[in-house]
Amino acid sequence: ADVSSEAHSFSELLLPDYLIAGLDAAGFHKPSPVQQAAIPMGRIGSDLVVQAKSGTGKTVVFGVICVENINLEVAMPQALVLAPTREIALQSAEVIHKLAAGLAGLSVGVFIGGIPVEEDQKLLRRACHIAVGTPGRICNLLEIGALKPNYLRMLVLDEADSLMSDSFRADVQWLHAVLPKRKQVMAFSATYDPQLLRQIEGMMRKPHRVMLCEETVSLVGVRQFYALVAGDGAARPADVLQAKADGLLKLFASVTFHQAVVFCNQKADAQRLADMLTAAGYPAAFISGSKSQLDRMDTISAVRGFKLRVIVSTDLVARGVDLERVNVVANLDLPPSGATYMHRVGRTGRFGTHGIAVTFVDAAELPTLHSYLRDIAGGQVEPLPDIIPEECY
Ligand code: ADP
Ligand code: MG
Repeated sequence: ADVSSEAHSFSELLLPDYLIAGLDAAGFHKPSPVQQAAIPMGRIGSDLVVQAKSGTGKTVVFGVICVENINLEVAMPQALVLAPTREIALQSAEVIHKLAAGLAGLSVGVFIGGIPVEEDQKLLRRACHIAVGTPGRICNLLEIGALKPNYLRMLVLDEADSLMSDSFRADVQWLHAVLPKRKQVMAFSATYDPQLLRQIEGMMRKPHRVMLCEETVSLVGVRQFYALVAGDGAARPADVLQAKADGLLKLFASVTFHQAVVFCNQKADAQRLADMLTAAGYPAAFISGSKSQLDRMDTISAVRGFKLRVIVSTDLVARGVDLERVNVVANLDLPPSGATYMHRVGRTGRFGTHGIAVTFVDAAELPTLHSYLRDIAGGQVEPLPDIIPEECY
């Protein structure tokens, strides 16, 4: 297929009718560039390494490929989708479920920590064709024999760079080894460093690469600003968090924002900030890996239901979680790396919408922020003006 010419509809990708209908019902009428480039190769069984900016529709890529390749006559898990966080797992399962709506009998199961293992066992005894989950729980289910690997022919690594980080790599490699040798492996991420790419491709046979990041700057649609909290004439405030919160409230008052995600590096700060924002009239919740799964799901659904305007987080939602109406992202602290910066700021400007990002720094940190943007080809970061032009968000 000629991927350079634009497909105007999913039917041009020659997908089966029930998938076109599922995509249509989900509101997807035209493939995004990554969908157009990766779906055809994936459908024919090729191993894939896909790189595309966050918010460009990678979930649909593996969703379509998995759904189409399930044999409904086999009542066993045939595709395994791994995600680094429970929220992403839930969200991907939901998307896959929607895509498969027109295919009676296809079952998608989510397997994540924080939920009794007995529930999982029950689900797996009934039927589950596509298993979506976090590495810990999936490994656990394989170990106790509740999840049978024999028919797993597709392995998806969503947010592959995170799945190959120190916290998950051993689990993922073990899983890869336990699954049948003949399988299709597909990796998805916005970023891959060269060593990581080698490790991932080491798990594949003749992988096909779909790399779309170099096409333009990776944070298109996001106007990026910084706000100085100290240095360059300004003295260091006694309560730095309070000063940053004041800056944030001023920002909230000056832009028409729908929803915002605010990142702090420390949990204690995040919790305190959520309280300060709520007290100031912007209902906010702190979401963190240390909260219970129920709490986390409640928070995400409150955000989706628009009951919350602001999510404050350390890094949990920095990856993959798709919050449609977020048009302001704020880093109250300088993120620890360029990649983290990109993942965080990528929470806005999703699927062609606009957004603004503001990072609070002191004068000494500013050069590091500039270096992040250089490293990730992230465009420009400008000083935060008093009035932000409306076309930015
Ligand atoms: P990624 O995994 O690349 O970060 P997602 O799969 O989470 O991105 O998708 C981002 C957003 O784009 C979602 O809100 C999704 O519903 C939307 N989306 C995906 N594909 C399409 C499409 N073909 N047309 C319109 N919207 C789409
Ligand atoms: Mg994703």
